[in-house]
Amino acid sequence: MGKQLSLLEFQAWFPDEESCARLLLERRWPDGFICPKCGDRNAVLLANRAYTYECRGCGRQTSVTAGTMMHRTKLPLTVWFWAAHLMATHSNGMSARQLKGQLGIAYDSAWLLAQKLRRSMVDPNRDPLEDVVEIDRAEMPFRAIDDLASPLKTGKILVVGAVEVIDHSTGEPHKPKGYGARYLDTLSGRIRLAAIPSNEAVHLHAFIKANIAPGATLLSDGHASYQGLEGYRHDPRVVGNIAAHIPLKWIHRVFSLLKRWSLGTYHGLRPQHIDAYLNEFVFRYNRRFYRHVSFETVLGLATRHAPASYWDITGQENPRKGTKMSRRTVRRRKTADGMRQDGGGI
Ligand SMILES: [Zn+2]
Repeated sequence: MGKQLSLLEFQAWFPDEESCARLLLERRWPDGFICPKCGDRNAVLLANRAYTYECRGCGRQTSVTAGTMMHRTKLPLTVWFWAAHLMATHSNGMSARQLKGQLGIAYDSAWLLAQKLRRSMVDPNRDPLEDVVEIDRAEMPFRAIDDLASPLKTGKILVVGAVEVIDHSTGEPHKPKGYGARYLDTLSGRIRLAAIPSNEAVHLHAFIKANIAPGATLLSDGHASYQGLEGYRHDPRVVGNIAAHIPLKWIHRVFSLLKRWSLGTYHGLRPQHIDAYLNEFVFRYNRRFYRHVSFETVLGLATRHAPASYWDITGQENPRKGTKMSRRTVRRRKTADGMRQDGGGI
C-alpha cells in the first residue's frame, strides 16, 4: 500500500463486522478453514455465533478471532481495525485520549485497546547492534497520575539507550577506528532502549549483552559502570567537561526525540507501562519514524501475538488465577452474543 488511507477511506474498506471477519478468516486460513483440533476441513459457519465455525468431525467450535488479541472482545471488530489503522498511520502514535476522540469509545476501552495494540509494536528486527555503537543513559520525565491538569513531575525513570553509528558514505555500519579517533559524517542506525533501575554495572552490562553484538566498539561517556565488561571494545568519549551531546550526538538525539514524543503524544510516560512505550518508540524509530506500518502488524496478524490479558497488561495479579472454575457441563453458547465470561477484557 503506497498511499496511506485516511480514516474515512479505511472505514470504507472495513465498514462492518463481516468485512473484518473476512480478513481474519483469509489471514488465518488462506486455503479455507481447517479444524485446529482434528484437522478436518469440513465445517459449518454457525448462524447463532459470530464468525464461528463448528467442525463436522469433532464438533469443536472455532472463532475467527481465536488466537488473536481480539479474542473474546467486547468491542466490535471494526473498532479494533480502525484503532489499529490510526496507530499505524499516525507517525507518532496515538494516545488513548486521541483514540477515544476519534472512535467515540469510552476512555477505559480506548486505554486498554491502545495498550494491547502497542504490544504488537515490537521491533521484529531484533538482531543485535553491531560494529560502532553509542551508548548512554538519560532520565525521562514521567507522569505520576493520569491528570493532564496536574504538573508534570520529573521522576527517575532511568533509560539506557544504544544506537548504531552508520557511515554516511557507504550507508553501512561504521568500521571501528582507533581509540579516541573522531567519527565524522555519520548517520544514526538502529536503536535499542530499556528502562533500568540504576546506573549500576550489573544493569548496564546486562543491557549491552542483550542488545549489542560481542566485539562491538562502545562509545560512552566513560561512566565507571561500563568498566569490567568483557568481550567489547570500550572507547570512552567524554573527557573532562565537554558536554556529552557533542561526542555522543546520535544517542542524545534519540533521547531528545523520545522526550519530545512522550510529551507530545502521551503527555509524559507512565512508569508502570514504560516497556511498552519504549518498544513502540524503538519500533517506530527503526522504521525511520515516518515509514508506513501496516495495520495488520499492529493488530498482530503478521506475527500472531498470543492474546494478552487485562492482567498481563496492568501487571496485576489475576485474583482468580489458579482457582478452578466449577462447571458441571461443557459450556454451550446459544445466542449470537453468547454468555461471555467476564475476563475483565474489552
Ligand atoms: Zn475438528
